[in-house]
Amino acid sequence: MRKKEIEKIPYLGLSRVKSGKLVEYVAVTDIRQVGKEPCLFVEVYRNRKDTGEIPAVRIALTQKDFGSYFPESGTWSRGKIIGESWQDTEMIWMVGAGIQMSEKEAAERNVLQSPEDLERIKGFLKGIKAWKGLWWEYIEKKQEDIIWKERSERNSRRWERRKKALEERGANTEELPEQRILQYAEDNLFIREHRLYYKKHGARATVACSGCGGVTDRRWRPGQSYESQFEVKMEEPRMGLYGTCPMCGRQGKFVPQGKARTTERETRHLFLGQKYKGTGMVMRYIEVEKKWRLELTCGEKGLEMCGAGESLDGIEIARTYLEPGKKAKTDYHKHSRENGEDFWDDCNLYGLNNINIRPAPIMGETYGNMKGTFLQYSAMKEYQRAIREDINPVDYLERYLDTPQIEMLVKMGLTELVGELVKCHYGIVGDMEARRPDTFLGIRKERLAQLIRHKGDRHILEVMQMERRMGQNWTEGQVEQLAELGMGRLVEALDYMGIQKYLNRVSKYAGCGYGTMCSRASGRLKETAQMYLDYLGMRKKRGYDMTNSVYLFPRKLEAAHAKMVEECNKEEYDKRTQEVNERFQMIKKNYRKLRKRFFFQDDEYMIRPARDAGEIVREGRILHHCVGGDTYLERHDTGQSTILFLRHREAPETPYITVEIGTEALEIRQWYGAHDKKPDRDRMQKWLDVYKTWLKCGNAAAGGMEAGMMAAGA
Ligand SMILES: [Zn+2]
Repeated sequence: MRKKEIEKIPYLGLSRVKSGKLVEYVAVTDIRQVGKEPCLFVEVYRNRKDTGEIPAVRIALTQKDFGSYFPESGTWSRGKIIGESWQDTEMIWMVGAGIQMSEKEAAERNVLQSPEDLERIKGFLKGIKAWKGLWWEYIEKKQEDIIWKERSERNSRRWERRKKALEERGANTEELPEQRILQYAEDNLFIREHRLYYKKHGARATVACSGCGGVTDRRWRPGQSYESQFEVKMEEPRMGLYGTCPMCGRQGKFVPQGKARTTERETRHLFLGQKYKGTGMVMRYIEVEKKWRLELTCGEKGLEMCGAGESLDGIEIARTYLEPGKKAKTDYHKHSRENGEDFWDDCNLYGLNNINIRPAPIMGETYGNMKGTFLQYSAMKEYQRAIREDINPVDYLERYLDTPQIEMLVKMGLTELVGELVKCHYGIVGDMEARRPDTFLGIRKERLAQLIRHKGDRHILEVMQMERRMGQNWTEGQVEQLAELGMGRLVEALDYMGIQKYLNRVSKYAGCGYGTMCSRASGRLKETAQMYLDYLGMRKKRGYDMTNSVYLFPRKLEAAHAKMVEECNKEEYDKRTQEVNERFQMIKKNYRKLRKRFFFQDDEYMIRPARDAGEIVREGRILHHCVGGDTYLERHDTGQSTILFLRHREAPETPYITVEIGTEALEIRQWYGAHDKKPDRDRMQKWLDVYKTWLKCGNAAAGGMEAGMMAAGA
């Protein structure tokens, strides 16, 4: 809009006030030249004698643009004559009046000065239709039209820009060294992946090798005759195993002729990073497909192998551009079904085929190409080498650009933590802005060396972060011991005692020390720490004096814990025990019989069935799991399954692990320790596996059981 020019044009003026009480506004129109363009003026006047020559609003419309000028405030607006919906907004000149009215009422209040005005509007806005016949409808529709055209032009300009940028990126991207990529894939991704198709007949076999393409017939079993001893032999072909081609010496997988598909294909992926525009990089994600084929011909005895071969093909499916100061941009290679052509697009969405960039091997030259780019200090090579598995370099480099501290962390050997960051787990960061590793991670400065020794172990880091948050100053040993316990609700215990006292107590109750690297000891420590916290919590809840050392440090934790559990739930517990013992009487009646069958113990553990239903309820309560529920009780009661208690021999009355075993098939349906967790998981699983075998083979093999248990313990 040529606003200044429009403001200079005198107002049209209201020639006379309209009669009729309802009329509040009168619109006057005219067409004037603004610059070289004809412009429709719609001036809306208050229908009052004192209105004079000044309208409430002047709406100016050309074929391509519009604007409304409010003389009172001297401001311009790009609002439409009415809002999106009739109910939402009043006409532009009544904004703020807060009047809601029907269209009929509006038409009575807002009128045109004369019928010529309507003709003028229609004539100027040719092609615009007003379904309801309201004069302002023409103007609103035209304004709507203009807005739509502008929007779609803006979109197509943006699309043009994107397309140009895409083309520009493509033009600045180096050629792919195709031969080199295929060679790399053959040597690194498809190692020994040749096919040795074979068909055995007696002591001989026909072999077709995809590596050299040859077909041969060889003896694989030495013959009886003197001559056959000297015949060149080959190893016996066996499906799925790898062997050596007797013709070319390549290694490949044996596939029997009968099982071979004529064409078999497999794909692998790799990354190649190249320089882009000097200091930037483009990380190219390439899919390599290997095809093996077996050639068959119709021979005397049916299908015969007459040749074999293989081929490699590569296709780049995505590339990510990384440039200083810019967001990473990924382009995707797509295939158009309409015209059958391949093309590049800067958007991944295309039909149902989304391209996923996953971790894959990175070609070695990537690191050489990285020198001199803004990524040369990303430490990606060191990181990749340290974690020894495939990474997604795009993820890594994007994270590095967000968080350049990654370089420092990798070089310190804190690779486990970098792995978390690459996965976008930023919860481990103390201060994103920090330059020093200790403040970045939110730990005390003195802790760094210890954390490095532990290669950035997450549990150790958590303890160190807690130490700093709590303003504590623990010893290295304490940090490691706390990490071994798992942090749990440690803070609660620290209300009652110092950190060292807590650690010592847990170790004493558990009956084992820290740092043994023994899974059983660690499991026991964790479980004891949890139980101790449980116990303290219950004491506090019951209102005991938490400064009294008798309550704080019971002589036997397990017994004291069990006692507190019962005390906490005594009434309810008694009622339930009585009830289940009446309802599920077979549990008690069958106890002797089941014990004979299921009881077992070795040096450390014992396992036995429940004595009665009440005991199962108690087990469930103490271990905080659901075995005391009716479902389990009923299954045991009716003999579908048996609930077994697995316990430490030195504490036979203390619940440890509860096992449900199928009474018929003896399959272990489930086993759980406290809080539905599986304490000392691997070891206890092995123990139970051996126990199950022992059950199935009958108790006769008891000697074997012990040997098995020892193996499991080792
Ligand atoms: Zn060969």
